[in-house]
Amino acid sequence: MPELPEVEVSRMGVSVHLDGQIISDIIVRTPKLRWDIPTAQLHSLVGHKINGVSRRAKYLVIETDVGDIIIHLGMSGSLRVIDHQVALKKHDHVDIVVGDKALRLNDPRRFGAVLFSEKGVPHRVFAKLGPEPLTGDFTSKHLVMMCAKRKAPIKQVIMDNPVVVGVGNIYANEALFLTKIHPQTPANEVSKRKLATLTRVIKEVLAAAIKQGGTTLKDFSQTDGKPGYFAQSLNVYGRGGQACVNCQSILQEVKLGQRASVFCPKCQKR
Ligand SMILES: [Zn+2]
Repeated sequence: MPELPEVEVSRMGVSVHLDGQIISDIIVRTPKLRWDIPTAQLHSLVGHKINGVSRRAKYLVIETDVGDIIIHLGMSGSLRVIDHQVALKKHDHVDIVVGDKALRLNDPRRFGAVLFSEKGVPHRVFAKLGPEPLTGDFTSKHLVMMCAKRKAPIKQVIMDNPVVVGVGNIYANEALFLTKIHPQTPANEVSKRKLATLTRVIKEVLAAAIKQGGTTLKDFSQTDGKPGYFAQSLNVYGRGGQACVNCQSILQEVKLGQRASVFCPKCQKR
């Protein structure tokens, strides 16, 4: 599943092809992904210039003067920018055509989304989002406040969008390992000092992954593969039963809120 770093790398990869271009057509081949695709509203953007591509949480926002196209990659979505006459593949659902190129969304599992928002009217999907982790809005003071009355495991709290957006399962596991916090610790029992470290580490692991993705970035104009997805060097995620990189203890795995949580029983004591 694409996490925040993949979405940010996708934003960087496609924006160089889209910024300043005029939308010449929007082709919707599938009426519904996770939600209905608002084809008629999207068509109102034809003829308008793309002012830029931004990101909020895991949503990409293609901005024009009259409205925005909002794209979510869901579980399996990927974007490429190709000659618009390149033959379609299975699961190519939407094209945003700019001149002789197209931004093409492929999504086998169809949990992604393509939405429209009128200029100046925030879309409902943005209503309950907390601060962006890589901005100054996400502070240790904020995290301490959000954890103060929460008895839920700290891992679930940092993955909760109203607390902070874009911390998915991979980076929650990694950040807790690097901060030496057991993932099942009730959030209100984690010390202020540890929460301050956790805030910093969340920023660091996400920034490092974006940097790594940016440097190993596959060409978004290639027609095969899944541009934007990249291999990462991870300490705990996907390594249950293997040795801890710090102490060689065997990493344990538990399910928390249906998600695999991997931790070192020695480094991350309760
Ligand atoms: Zn260890």
